[in-house]
Amino acid sequence: MPLFIIQGDITRSDCDAIVNAANNSLLGGGGVDGAIHRAAGPELLNECRTLHGCDTGEAKITGAYNLDAKYVIHTVGPIWRGGNRGEEELLRSCYRNSLKLAVEHECKSVAFPMISAGVYGYPFDEALEVAVSEISSFLNSSQDDLTVYITIFSKRDYKISRELFDDVNKYVKDRMVFKEHRFMCMGMNAAADACAADSSVEEFVKTHIDESFSRMLLRLIDEKGMTDVECYKKANIDRKLFSKIRSNESYHPKKTTVLGFAIALKLTLDETDELLMKAGYALSDSNCGDLVVEYFLNNRIYDINKINEVLFAMDQELIGEYYPA
Ligand code: ADP
Repeated sequence: MPLFIIQGDITRSDCDAIVNAANNSLLGGGGVDGAIHRAAGPELLNECRTLHGCDTGEAKITGAYNLDAKYVIHTVGPIWRGGNRGEEELLRSCYRNSLKLAVEHECKSVAFPMISAGVYGYPFDEALEVAVSEISSFLNSSQDDLTVYITIFSKRDYKISRELFDDVNKYVKDRMVFKEHRFMCMGMNAAADACAADSSVEEFVKTHIDESFSRMLLRLIDEKGMTDVECYKKANIDRKLFSKIRSNESYHPKKTTVLGFAIALKLTLDETDELLMKAGYALSDSNCGDLVVEYFLNNRIYDINKINEVLFAMDQELIGEYYPA
């Protein structure tokens, strides 16, 4: 289910399928196309010759030969001609058709390059927006277990909305100070509230302190009226990992996994602290990634992909997780 943005050379990916930003001839070219053909070896070109080209927006699949991947999915992105010539719909269909082929071939993981964002001139931030929204809507409506990577070749190319980035960056810089851990106060406030509400300390301990991370998560999903599937998809977490958490009451999640659930469940900052505490974590004012998440929670922006775009820009670990095959 999950979608991650990573930096690297797609030819080194060990995903089941890698996607090639090809041209209509499918007979090789420059950029990522050239790199994939060089790494796969001449047999790839031989197989491509049998395909008789590919229309823009369509996709075709071949073997991957000397690459670690099992398949190469060749798709042809639109050439950018100013944005009014159907470029966006064509680019969306590149992602859709490539993902359909991957699922038909039972792939569990797929790596995409930034189609059209090189020589074909599609503005990077707009191409990223299309990639992220099209891949996530495919994953949200899919029953298949698929992990997707958007591979950014050079961090220098990576551009996201300047306004959002500047805003988060300012928040992080302003807050990057060592402060007492808010979670300690939060725990005490919660205890005080519980007492004020006339429930016994025993009861408070039973429902809050004794409750494991897994129990608390399942309780919150119920309280928010969500289904498990809705929740783990919004958390950028795959089905297998979610069922591990569900079935193992003492499951110890990664911090980024807990944060994924906090976003999916639209928790407040205090609720997030409580959920983190169940797994032995806390948000820290001296950790850049934590402050990025804090910014989004404070502003009630619960779009996991937007958060991950910013975390990636700031070289921080992304939110979400999948269970390794
Ligand atoms: P297009 O013609 O579709 O624009 P390009 O190959 O020119 O395709 O570029 C598409 C994107 O792929 C660009 O962002 C470029 O930086 C990136 N790219 C180039 N080589 C690689 C590689 N080896 N791995 C991943 N991405 C790459």
